[in-house]
Amino acid sequence: MKRRECIRTAVAGGMLLLALVLRLCGLLPLWGLFLVAAAALGTLWLALGYRVWHRLRGKAQQWFLFWNYALPVLAALPTLALVLDRAPRIDERLLVATLTGAVLAAIYYLIYPKPKNMRKKIVAGNWKMNTLPTEGIELARNVAAGRNEGCSCVNFIVCPPFTHLCGVIDALRGSDIEVGAQNCAAEEKGAYTGEVSAAMIAALGCRYVILGHSERRQYYGETSETLNRKMAQAFANDLQPIYCVGENLEEREAGRHFDVVKRQIEEVVYNLTPEQFARTTIAYEPVWAIGTGKTATADQAQEIHAHIRSILRKQFREAAEQTPILYGGSCKPSNAAELFAKEDVDGGLIGGAALKAEDFLAIGKGFEK
Ligand code: PEP
Repeated sequence: MKRRECIRTAVAGGMLLLALVLRLCGLLPLWGLFLVAAAALGTLWLALGYRVWHRLRGKAQQWFLFWNYALPVLAALPTLALVLDRAPRIDERLLVATLTGAVLAAIYYLIYPKPKNMRKKIVAGNWKMNTLPTEGIELARNVAAGRNEGCSCVNFIVCPPFTHLCGVIDALRGSDIEVGAQNCAAEEKGAYTGEVSAAMIAALGCRYVILGHSERRQYYGETSETLNRKMAQAFANDLQPIYCVGENLEEREAGRHFDVVKRQIEEVVYNLTPEQFARTTIAYEPVWAIGTGKTATADQAQEIHAHIRSILRKQFREAAEQTPILYGGSCKPSNAAELFAKEDVDGGLIGGAALKAEDFLAIGKGFEK
C-alpha cells in the first residue's frame, strides 16, 4: 500500500476509534457516531477503490465509480434517518439534510482534496525478436512467480514473438499477467504469406497488440494508411492496441517532435470511434532513446505526454483523461520511479529490460515509490 493510502486508512481508523470512545463516554450523540462511521467507511472504500480502479476498463469502471460515491452516501443514511426522526418540521429536516451533506463533503474534501489520477497503470514488455520459445516460456514463468511481490494496481503485459504466444499464454494461466502480440496483419485473411492475422492472435487468448512501433515504421515501411487498417483489424477481433508514436533524433533536434507525434496521432487515432478510443493505449517512444541507453528525462517525457493528451482531448474530450500513455525508451528499474511519478506518464513500454523477469517486475515497483 502507498504511504499516502496508509495515512488515510490510519486517519479513518483513528477517527472511528475516537468516535467510539467518545460515544462510550457519553460525549458523542449516536448520529455523530454514524456520521464519523460513514466518513471512515467512505475513506477506506476510496483508498481501496484507487487500487481496484486501475484493473478495470469501460463499463466496469463506470459502475465502480458509481458505487464509489453511492456507498459512502448510503452509509450516511442511518445518520440522516436518526436525526430526521427528531426534527419533525420540514424546514428543520431540510436544514439537517443539508448540514449532513455539507459535513460529509467537507470531511471527504479534507481527506481527498483532489481526485487522484485514476488512469490504468501499465508496464508492458516488448520482447521483440528475442528468446527461443523455451526461454520465453521460462521468462514468462519467472515473471508470474515474482509478480505477487508487486503492487496489484499495476497491469503487467508481456508481448513475446508470435511463435511463443501459445506457450507463454499457457505458462501465465492463473496469473493476472496479460499477453499481447507485437504486430498483426492489416488484412483479415487470405493469400498473405508470412502474415499473422488479428483473429489468429485473439483466438490464442491475447488481449493486446502493439501497433506502429518505430522499428516497424522504419524497417517495414508501415505508414498511417497501413496502421489504420491494422487498428481496424485489432478492434474487429477485440484486441486492444498499444499504439506507438515518437520522433527520431533529427526531428527532436530540429524541435519538430511535437508536430511529429501530433501527425502520428491525428492520422490514426483521430479515425477511431469513441468506443475504440476507450480501448486504446498510447506509447510515446522517442526513437533516439530506444535501445540506446539514452532515456528522455522525466520532464521531457511529461512535457510530450501532456502534449499528446492535449491532442487527444481535442478530438475525444474528457475521454482522453482515461487514456494510459506509456513511456518507452531505455526505461529500467533505476529510472522508472522518476518517470512514473509524472502526472501524464501512466507506465512504460519496455524493451531490453523486459527480458529479465527481475528487472521487468522492478520497473512496476516504480509506481510504489
Ligand atoms: C521498445 O522498443 O519498445 C523499447 C522501449 O526498447 P528499450 O526499452 O530497449 O529502449
